[in-house]
Amino acid sequence: MGPPPITLESAKPYIGRFAPSPSGPLHFGSLVCALGSFLDARAHGGHWLLRMEDLDPPREAPGAAARILSALEAHGLHWHGTVKWQSKRTPLYEDTLQQLRKQGLLYPCYCSRNQIRQSGGHNNSRCRTVNPGKGTCALRLVCAGGEELFLDIWHGEQRQYIRDDTLLKRRDGLYAYQLAVVVDDISLGITHVVRGADLLETTGAQIRLFGALSAAPPVFGHLPLVMGPGGRQKLSKQNRAPAVDNANAAGNLCTALAFLGFHVPASLAQEMPETILNWAATHWQRHQVDRHNRQLH
Ligand code: GLU
Repeated sequence: MGPPPITLESAKPYIGRFAPSPSGPLHFGSLVCALGSFLDARAHGGHWLLRMEDLDPPREAPGAAARILSALEAHGLHWHGTVKWQSKRTPLYEDTLQQLRKQGLLYPCYCSRNQIRQSGGHNNSRCRTVNPGKGTCALRLVCAGGEELFLDIWHGEQRQYIRDDTLLKRRDGLYAYQLAVVVDDISLGITHVVRGADLLETTGAQIRLFGALSAAPPVFGHLPLVMGPGGRQKLSKQNRAPAVDNANAAGNLCTALAFLGFHVPASLAQEMPETILNWAATHWQRHQVDRHNRQLH
């Protein structure tokens, strides 16, 4: 599906973004992602947008979105323009589904969770042709098969086999993450996606969707994850990683910078967040980031 985007450059002016899901407060791992994407945008003279991925009410924690925004502000991570709330953008997702339907690229999938589990966690493309037409259904993109090739800022050349027809709308009627993220990255003109390495493996499927929508994919860069105690799981909202302490913003920023490979002068921790970020933006070098997931020292 189209030539592989095998470049780390974009012809357009840099527009980056941070796209948290409000399933919990900002923890140290998400601070590292926010900071990495902010600095990459700043260092390239770009804009940095904030998109709240609030499309999954059952997984939302009350008050989490507001807490994330105030934590970013307390750490000097100011975004350009207004916050983009995915929950207010659903007409755009519906229009896109309509467009894909017209292109013959969308089909209803009636597979239950059990059936998907039984086929090793993968959808069975039988639904593409056999349509029982009963009960609630999900919507999937006709896209499985073949590889996507792309270059990641930190992980280099990637080849991903596209095993599944990507889920675009869930059986419970909610828009799937993959649909919303791609539609929004296109409509907001995002040129660079810098985010956590847990999303590296979904990138090929996203690039397929960019192709189906005749849009050029952005440059992707996946930052190392901060692993929790024991080093097996990443810090995450779901495993209740503690919120960053806004009262210690300068210290948190310096710790996050060290995680991203900076040699941080000790005196910097006494400065205001904005001063720390200015220093970091002028010293940011992509190659200093060690891409391996690891615990904080
Ligand atoms: N909302 C996703 C998350 O919080 C990130 C999506 C993205 O950056 O593409 O994990």
